[in-house]
Amino acid sequence: MSIFDDTRADILSREDSALEGRLPLAVEEIIEAELEYFNQSVSITNHNQIPDTPQIPIQNPTTWLKIPDVICCFVDMEGSTKLSASLHDKTTAKAYRLFTETAIRIFHKFGAAYIDIKGDGVFSLFNKNQPYTALAATISFKTFVNEHFTPKVQKMTEQYVGGHFGIEQKTVLVRRFGLKSYQNRTDRQNEVWAGKPINMAAKLASLSTNNRLWVSDRFFRNLKDERAIHSCGCPNGEKVQLWTKEDLSADSRFDFDTAYSLGSNWCEKHGKSFCSGLVKLDNEN
Ligand SMILES: [Zn+2]
Repeated sequence: MSIFDDTRADILSREDSALEGRLPLAVEEIIEAELEYFNQSVSITNHNQIPDTPQIPIQNPTTWLKIPDVICCFVDMEGSTKLSASLHDKTTAKAYRLFTETAIRIFHKFGAAYIDIKGDGVFSLFNKNQPYTALAATISFKTFVNEHFTPKVQKMTEQYVGGHFGIEQKTVLVRRFGLKSYQNRTDRQNEVWAGKPINMAAKLASLSTNNRLWVSDRFFRNLKDERAIHSCGCPNGEKVQLWTKEDLSADSRFDFDTAYSLGSNWCEKHGKSFCSGLVKLDNEN
């Protein structure tokens, strides 16, 4: 019998012979079972690629997958606290949908291996051989925020609501926790990506202002192609270096010292061809 088969009613009604004690028996049983797993050894299987979600372990309590150099793109709203569910409920509802749903659908179109919502942001995971795709997807979403999201929300609320964008890359452990199925509900389980890239991508994103994308130097080292480093040359034919070096050595939240930030969005004339050209580089690998 699974320890999760007990329901709340059991806690209240089940005969509990001991009247004294700190915790209800059902709670004690959960804790005991988990402490037992804690004492068992863990089995970690190396996996070169991010697995399809149904393949992520949930039943065997000691099994994990380890995936090297996962790329995490994180986006959330800059200034979302200016949107209020009590004051402007309809505008807030629309803004959340426009930002979040568009992010999920763009990352999906670019073939992200995994997408989820974290807080009021969205993160997407790409395999280590997809750096240009991860970058192209994030710049595409960033361009949307700049061109459509911010001006539309500004028009309705007279507030600046922009986007935070961050990308980081590192090894993760993954498994699913929770109840595999419970009355057809899926809210009692989720994938847990243990390791730094998701938190670091979110923290990098939180540093970004004015529609800039911040990436760690670990991710930046993937970018060798000219189109990811220099501009197309518009409007005056002068190709400029796109990235600004950012010093994070004084910020103890990061386990790297250098990040790079990008202000530009897809160019009106060359965006399409740069975007598809970059994605193609990953497919050639
Ligand atoms: Zn151009």
